Amino acid sequence: MFYQEKCNLCGKCLEYCPYVEYDLKRAQEEMKELVSGGTPPIVGLCVTCASCNLVCPTQANPFDLLNQRQEETDALGIPDQAMQNFAKLYNLPAVVKKGKKGNAVLNLCIVGDMVRELLDNPLFDDLTIVEGADYFCTVGYIHLGKPSLAKKEAKRYIDNLAALGANEVICFHDDCYTMLTTLAQEYGLKVPFQPVHIFEYLYRELKKREGQLKSVPIRVAYQSPCASRYTQGKDIYLDKIFELLGVERPARKYERINALCCGAPLMARDKERAAVVKKWNIDDAKKVKADAMVFLCPMCYLNLRKLCKDDSIDPIFITELCKKAL
Ligand code: SF4
Ligand code: SF4
Repeated sequence: MFYQEKCNLCGKCLEYCPYVEYDLKRAQEEMKELVSGGTPPIVGLCVTCASCNLVCPTQANPFDLLNQRQEETDALGIPDQAMQNFAKLYNLPAVVKKGKKGNAVLNLCIVGDMVRELLDNPLFDDLTIVEGADYFCTVGYIHLGKPSLAKKEAKRYIDNLAALGANEVICFHDDCYTMLTTLAQEYGLKVPFQPVHIFEYLYRELKKREGQLKSVPIRVAYQSPCASRYTQGKDIYLDKIFELLGVERPARKYERINALCCGAPLMARDKERAAVVKKWNIDDAKKVKADAMVFLCPMCYLNLRKLCKDDSIDPIFITELCKKAL
């Protein structure tokens, strides 16, 4: 939600935006136009990464206003085919694979088919695993410039997960954690179970096995998904996982608060621009001589996997990294 009363039109949000080269004057002018109800060019140029929410010094949430205007004006120009492809995810059958009674639920949302080969992991033994349309968080609508549709689907999603009766729901998909924490709170929805981020779950499980873990002494670049801009607090568990496994994470330009989108949200509307953003990510990892790029989001993983391999960077999903230590 954009808090207009907090916005002093300082322009720092759009001056920061890594996908345009605005000086402070232009940033201030476009923010002024946006807040006055207009549609400045940034509304269409925005890649929907939500990073400007993080850099705003008054927490006014400028991206939320941009996203609202994108919906009002259709400024992103998302092709109908891309919208239809997203809507097809509602057809995925709901699957509930029962685990040990009393254990937590692991929600795969709609990403199960994208990472099926990565799910064979002893750390998931005995969990109830669910996936499909009933457990689809729909946060992707934000990237499609339709945030009101994510809000509309939120209660159905939370109710379906609550009906499973578990005390804890582990979010495999970062978008789900965003929905169950930051967005649910913003929408005024109660979540009657504890959402647990996959980082926290993996850390807890690794910590239980601490004495038997193998070290994974590699140098990695971490690709943070855009949804993580809403839930920065949980990233502490990633640092703890890396520390536990002996993984080195060298400082680089595009990480932590400066993390870039993987480019996937641009694929449907501007492939050339998507290619540029992908290259920025890979080149940055190369610059620090990363052996591997670690992924949390299946979309980021599928989108950058080949480019990583082309540059001799090993693409590793976070669950696979943890499996290497077992
Ligand atoms: S949203 Fe925040 S950073 Fe952007 S102009 Fe307003 S106060 Fe400044
Ligand atoms: S959401 Fe990302 S791409 Fe859009 S204006 Fe903010 S920083 Fe730029």
